[in-house]
Amino acid sequence: MKKIDKIYLDIDGVIRGVASPKEDVVKLLRYCMDNYPGAVYWLTTHCRGGVNRTDFVLHDTFDNEFADELYNKILPTDWEALKTEAIDMDSDFVWFDDNLFESERMVLEQNYVLDGFFLMNPKDSEMAKKALEHLRRFGTA
Ligand SMILES: [Mg+2]
Repeated sequence: MKKIDKIYLDIDGVIRGVASPKEDVVKLLRYCMDNYPGAVYWLTTHCRGGVNRTDFVLHDTFDNEFADELYNKILPTDWEALKTEAIDMDSDFVWFDDNLFESERMVLEQNYVLDGFFLMNPKDSEMAKKALEHLRRFGTA
């Protein structure tokens, strides 16, 4: 994988409820929105089964202006049982999540795209920085 077509973002444990400073989380999200417009997606239990409830948690986590921007620019996905249902397996993607179920890992392996998964550790205060560094390695689109 040498480029990024799509970015998938979990919320809890990735941009919310994390040890990373808020400003680092905001920088990560800013970078995603500015460099991958129309290619950043929610992959969270707050957006599932055809219902996007990210609005509420975003306003609970960020200031109103930034929360609105996130809600407007980051696209919803629809999945039921496994998050991998919502992933475009033909794209080069980065999926930021603090958890990967064995069944999801198997789907990624079967599609030869396990390298698109990036494990986030919510307890690591450098995690948002590390995630941003990971994206920067691919250069800008
Ligand atoms: Mg999570």
